[in-house]
Amino acid sequence: MSYRVTLIPGDGIGPEVAWAARQCLEATGIAWQWDERMAGEAAIARFKTPLPEETLQSIRDNRVAIKGPITTPIGTGFRSVNVALRKQLNLFACVRPCRSFAGVPAPAIATGGPGRSPFQRVDLVIVRENTEDLYAGIEFASRQAQTTELISQLTAWSGQPIQPDAAISIKPISATATERIVTFACEYALANRRKKVTAVHKANIMKFTDGLFLETARRVAARYEGRVAFEDRLVDATCMQLVLRPQEFDVLVLPNLYGDILSDLCAGLVGGLGVAPGANIGEEAAVFEAVHGSAPKYQGLNKVNPVAMILSGAMMLRHLGEQGAADRLDQAVAAVLRDGKAVTYDLKAERNDPTAVGTKEMARAIIERMKTVHISVP
Ligand code: NAD
Repeated sequence: MSYRVTLIPGDGIGPEVAWAARQCLEATGIAWQWDERMAGEAAIARFKTPLPEETLQSIRDNRVAIKGPITTPIGTGFRSVNVALRKQLNLFACVRPCRSFAGVPAPAIATGGPGRSPFQRVDLVIVRENTEDLYAGIEFASRQAQTTELISQLTAWSGQPIQPDAAISIKPISATATERIVTFACEYALANRRKKVTAVHKANIMKFTDGLFLETARRVAARYEGRVAFEDRLVDATCMQLVLRPQEFDVLVLPNLYGDILSDLCAGLVGGLGVAPGANIGEEAAVFEAVHGSAPKYQGLNKVNPVAMILSGAMMLRHLGEQGAADRLDQAVAAVLRDGKAVTYDLKAERNDPTAVGTKEMARAIIERMKTVHISVP
């Protein structure tokens, strides 16, 4: 049995971290057929578009893709490939696990000092709704005729004054999309041996939009009673709790905007972009990718950290039902990080540490480690 997967190397450091992930995935012993496709800058040169139809079709056919980061060209008229991919494939769930690894420097806080950071033993997953909310892209620019008309309608309907030069963004939150994302979060919790789902909202102020999110989340969670614990929290209180006691959280499910902000906050809690994996998942397809971008200034230097992309590969293994291989890969990564020797510059205490290794060397160390790890299943 082998898995046919679309592989998109991407731009900048993308091909280097994608190579590293591919080597590690092959070393798990699982058989792969890589369907390599272009997106991003390389695709523009050949196909005159950063997201060729044949790349999309490959993902639709294979249903699973692993993708390096893609540069969003500035001033060319091309929109973000990442946003386009999510829309075209209806990838409604963005999943970002945030886990602290021994050996990865967690941020120290002023009162705690080094070694006393509260950001240890963090192990949570952000599940962000990807398709609606203020990110749906329904916006009206300031001082346009349509906006002026909308403002006068809104003022009449709501009785609330709106400045005549205001720009307007619309925040759609539906029961349909909320039901889908909360169901996804609960199923994810069950499939990944997680115990609790926290719905994050601001329903005390946004009674209709976030109120509907909360009401729907509660209704969905009731179906999982006894199997997945459920709670809800206000987004502002959640930010404070994440900084004070991140260990209290397990799976968090959020509307689009809060999800975007909190997933970066949580990536910061556990050591930043170098170790933050992710996935965008829909009913028809799933695309696995690191949270970080294409970091063009490091392109071709064999310098950057491949872990975020390798851990995205481990997420892909779990998605495919290959839990054993995923555990082996996760634990090999954890062991190499814990040793702190064969790691890239960003994981050393001093960024100029001459003992830092390159992207390829770190991937090879992880592969070597995979041969010796003994799986400890919790
Ligand atoms: P970036 O994540 O590419 O880089 C910011 C900084 O983070 C880098 O300069 C580097 O210091 C550090 N960094 C990032 N990845 C690292 C790694 N693997 N190892 C070590 N250090 C790492 O963010 P940016 O500079 O804002 O964006 C560059 C380009 O990437 C933009 O065109 C942006 O649109 C794109 N981008 C793409 C994706 C994606 O494809 N999913 C995501 C974010 C940004």
